[in-house]
This record gives sequence, C-alpha cells and structure tokens, in this order.
Amino acid sequence: MAKERTYKTTGIVIRKTKLGEADRILTFFTPDYGKIQGFAKSVRKTNSKLSGHLELLTYSSLTLTKGRGIDTVIGSQNIDSFLSIKNDLYRISYALYMAELIEHFATDEEANPELFDLYLGCMKELGRTPYPLYLLRYFEVNLLTNTGFRPEMDQCVICQTEITRSNHGGFSPSAGGMLCSNCRDHSHYYGYPLSWRTCQLIKDLQKYSWEELENEPPDSSILNETEMLLKRYITFTLEKEVKSYAWLNHLRLLADVK
Ligand SMILES: [Zn+2]
Repeated sequence: MAKERTYKTTGIVIRKTKLGEADRILTFFTPDYGKIQGFAKSVRKTNSKLSGHLELLTYSSLTLTKGRGIDTVIGSQNIDSFLSIKNDLYRISYALYMAELIEHFATDEEANPELFDLYLGCMKELGRTPYPLYLLRYFEVNLLTNTGFRPEMDQCVICQTEITRSNHGGFSPSAGGMLCSNCRDHSHYYGYPLSWRTCQLIKDLQKYSWEELENEPPDSSILNETEMLLKRYITFTLEKEVKSYAWLNHLRLLADVK
C-alpha cells in the first residue's frame, strides 16, 4: 500500500530507541505497511500529547507524515495497552521475545496482515491463557510458516519418505526439517534427536488453531523439547541468537530456585 503524505494506520510498538533529551525513534508493526519506523518528537516530556499512547508493547491508532528519511508520528490513540501482560514480569518477558521475533522476521514497509493478525491474536491470548509457554511455541511455528521458513515435519527433507514413528531420524535445522533414519545415517546433515511426540506436537502446531490446541496442553517434557528444537531452528534461520530469550530464560531459572 503506497503511503499518502499524511497517513493513518494502527500498530504495535515493538521497539523504542531514545534520541536526544526527549525524542524517540519507534518501530511499529502494522497491518497496512508491515514494519515501519516513526520519529516521535518530545514524547518523553510529561506534557506530550503522544506520551502514554506510544509505550512499548502498546497497540495504538497512528497518524504519521512522510519525511525525507523517517516518518513522523503526529497523532496516536491507545487501542489496547495489554495491561494483563504488563502486570506480570514473566508475561512481559514472553511479549518482548515475541516482539523481537517480529522485528527479525517481518519485512520493512511491506503489508503482511496475516502475520499482524497472528501477532495481535497472540498478544491478546498472552494476557489470558494459563499456558503462555505453549502459546509461544504456537506463535513461533506459525511465524515460521508465514515468513517462508516452515520446517518440513511430514516427510524426510532428503528422500521425501513419509516420516513415521518407526523411521524418524531427527530434526536438521540446516536441511529445514525432519530426516528419516536412513538419511540421518547416510547424509552429511546432522539430525538432532527428538521424541515422536515432539514431532507430532510441531505438526499439530502447524495444523490447528490456538483455540483447538489450548484444550489439550502437552506435558512439560514435550513442551521443553519443542522449545529447544525451535530455538535451534530459529537461531540457525536468523544466523544469530534472539537476545530477549536469554532474559526470559534467566527469569524462569530464578522462579525454579524459589
Ligand atoms: Zn530420508
């Protein structure tokens, strides 16, 4: 969608960067223009009309004017502040992780309304569900599908043999999915071992809606194995670590110590 000189959209603030004393550069994820940046003048002053509407992880309606380099935010109104997330430190860490994934995977200035709907839907669910870690796995798997990195779980990525309980040979991030046991032993790809139930869970996450999945949460051991596998795959795909994952994990370790 081409931008007018002054244009309106909605968006979730996925990153904030300070600029000078009172200004900020904000990164929004929007349904109409994908990922965009906006300059917010004087937003850090307490009397700014914009302040409060442009907090991190807030969904707002936006009015911007096109600039030579970066566009300027001239109006903003909160739609959803996701307060039930922001009242819970763990859920904040999960939301920051989702925001960082969107920042890495979404395209600049290219509409992707399906990805926006996935992200907004998961932000709403994150404030409500008793299974936030399960929701994160759902978000990751569907983000990968939407952005063209869907791992192949149904058949061997080398020989296309259907993957079954008896022949599954492991998951190869570099090959993009499952190996059968024969290709694991005879190709140069390394297959991380995984249980058949984890393989099935990833297939279910690719296939079913969150409403259907939430009724049958998996055991924590299956969920942990799925998390490790997706972390390896996402790190391989991005060619870097997702920084907020370390903080999320640190918080979880502290909780275990209590
Ligand atoms: Zn094979």
